[in-house]
Amino acid sequence: MNVSVDSTKCIGCGLCVSMAEEVFEIVEGVSQVKPDAPLQDSAVQQKANDAAAVCCNQAIVVEES
Ligand code: SF4
Repeated sequence: MNVSVDSTKCIGCGLCVSMAEEVFEIVEGVSQVKPDAPLQDSAVQQKANDAAAVCCNQAIVVEES
């Protein structure tokens, strides 16, 4: 699984961080995927998917690999 945040769409609301703090962090006002995000963990993958589903501006891109 690969997760990324489109920084041109992110409004920095922090919702994804509150839902999946293992994956996302706010840096300089926008969310980004942590370099050490444990995306091999299925529970973490589910959190990332849930965050992508509720992101208010569809800024989170999840690609299954
Ligand atoms: S939920 Fe979406 S808009 Fe809000 S901080 Fe996360 S990526 Fe950005």
